[in-house]
Amino acid sequence: MKILISDKLSEQGIELLRQESAWQVDVQTALAPAQLLEVIGRYDALLVRSNTQVNTEVIQAAKSLRVIGRAGTGVDNINLEAATNKGIVVMNTPGGNSVSVAELAMGLMLSMARSVPQASASTKQGKWDKKSFTGVELKNKTLGIVGFGKIGMEVAKRARAFQMNVVVYDPYVSDRLAQDLSVKLASLDELFAESDVITLHVPLVDATRHIVNAASIAKMKEGVRIINTARGELVNEAHLAAALDSGKVAAAAVDVLSLEPPATDNPLLRHPKVIVTPHIAASTAEAQEVVGVEIAEQVRGFLKDGIIRNAVNFPSVSFEEYKKIGPFLQLGEKLGSFVSQIGQGRLSEVGIRYYGETVDINTHLIASSILVGILKPILADAINLINARKHLDERGILLIESQSSRVRSYSNLISVRLKTDMTEEWVEGTILSQGKSRLVSVDGIDIEAPLHGAILFIRNNDTPGVIGQIGTLLGNNRVNIASFALGRGDGEHAVGVVNVDSGIPESLLEMIRSYSNIRFARVVQL
Ligand code: NAD
Repeated sequence: MKILISDKLSEQGIELLRQESAWQVDVQTALAPAQLLEVIGRYDALLVRSNTQVNTEVIQAAKSLRVIGRAGTGVDNINLEAATNKGIVVMNTPGGNSVSVAELAMGLMLSMARSVPQASASTKQGKWDKKSFTGVELKNKTLGIVGFGKIGMEVAKRARAFQMNVVVYDPYVSDRLAQDLSVKLASLDELFAESDVITLHVPLVDATRHIVNAASIAKMKEGVRIINTARGELVNEAHLAAALDSGKVAAAAVDVLSLEPPATDNPLLRHPKVIVTPHIAASTAEAQEVVGVEIAEQVRGFLKDGIIRNAVNFPSVSFEEYKKIGPFLQLGEKLGSFVSQIGQGRLSEVGIRYYGETVDINTHLIASSILVGILKPILADAINLINARKHLDERGILLIESQSSRVRSYSNLISVRLKTDMTEEWVEGTILSQGKSRLVSVDGIDIEAPLHGAILFIRNNDTPGVIGQIGTLLGNNRVNIASFALGRGDGEHAVGVVNVDSGIPESLLEMIRSYSNIRFARVVQL
């Protein structure tokens, strides 16, 4: 396994990867873009911070890259679409810097309450101006937190230690969580009306863009103080500057601006009531250490055990979940591959139905594994869990998933239907208690056969002699039969699944097809 670390990463993180004795870990933090293009083809994993530009060219040049790890949150320096198309997992480390951001928010709040930067600048200019810097206490004041995620919660804990009342607006947070952290959930208007200080910790989405603007400021208390350590575009900077001029807003503190670095005429930049820092909330020694170690652990977990954590182009799977879901991913891929190889014609629709225990596990992943199985035998591109859905969409193939509470003979069951312009195939499979994949029906006919290796699949007339005829032919041609399963339909139709130890040559297959009772014969390789 070859790993390239192309930005400065914590030593502890690098060491963690080097502990894998068979892995080659190269730290090359001064690569020019052309040099990166030259070397990237050799690596299975790339670890970056924000300096390395992982653009389309880099991804195209990457021959065996499976994972890109970003130590930190923003992935603006990585072309996600190109990575996803190529089936490369992109991981980041959200949360690794939450405490650092929360501490800066607290620092800015205290700085505003006591005008620390202004008082310091004035004193350094030779003044001793005690009168201009009468501040306010935080105790018993109300802090409004907009967005109660990882950072918002850390801010709340610290504000409670300062004996502040905390009001929270976050439509996706439960009452119980609010109670546990001794905060009050409120509507956005209530928060605006009650807060002495407002701090923003929401992502930038359509609903939050310019959440602080003239209209929302009008709903706030006279003399409110506003902190933004989230994203610059959450605030209409011109509206905030006007409210600072009028005195409606007493002070503001921002670590982020709508344009970074800011234009010189940004109205907040030179405003005397504004504290500005250059997007440094996450820039602490601890946060850098934490994200370095976290990304190394995540990349190691993925390369060693296939565990996907904090992927930005794929749902996360914890170790426990992975252990539970692993056998179903194998079953899914095998069922998909089987049904794809017995199908004929142009694919138009994939239908998946989950029964029993499978309903409660990550069916998104199971469906992706089925699609991998279906697409792998027919596409030249490397297909994996990351890009299978994208390839399906690009080909205009419909995916229909459903869950059923109908009780079946198996504790778990996955049913896959494949529609083409010529045929409709339908197979079902289960995981037995020993974790083995089993095919349990084809064409709606019950059958039980292992799902591995080379398989001869037949559809035949339900008349005596078919098993003997095929058994004799294979035996005479030194093809060893590992197991032979036959399923009988209601009428004359039967299906057969013959697991063999080696492949079956095309000439033999032609002979089988020529038998009068054989309607269909195909060799499937799993
Ligand atoms: P998070 O995903 O843990 O939390 C975001 C919270 O916002 C969630 O609880 C979500 O329910 C809530 N939310 C989403 N839409 C909302 C809406 N319309 N109204 C109200 N709440 C809404 O994220 P986090 O790690 O706490 O980060 C919060 C912000 O801080 C993000 O914008 C992130 O980009 C920013 N950030 C800045 C820096 C920095 O260096 N200044 C560093 C890290 C994160």
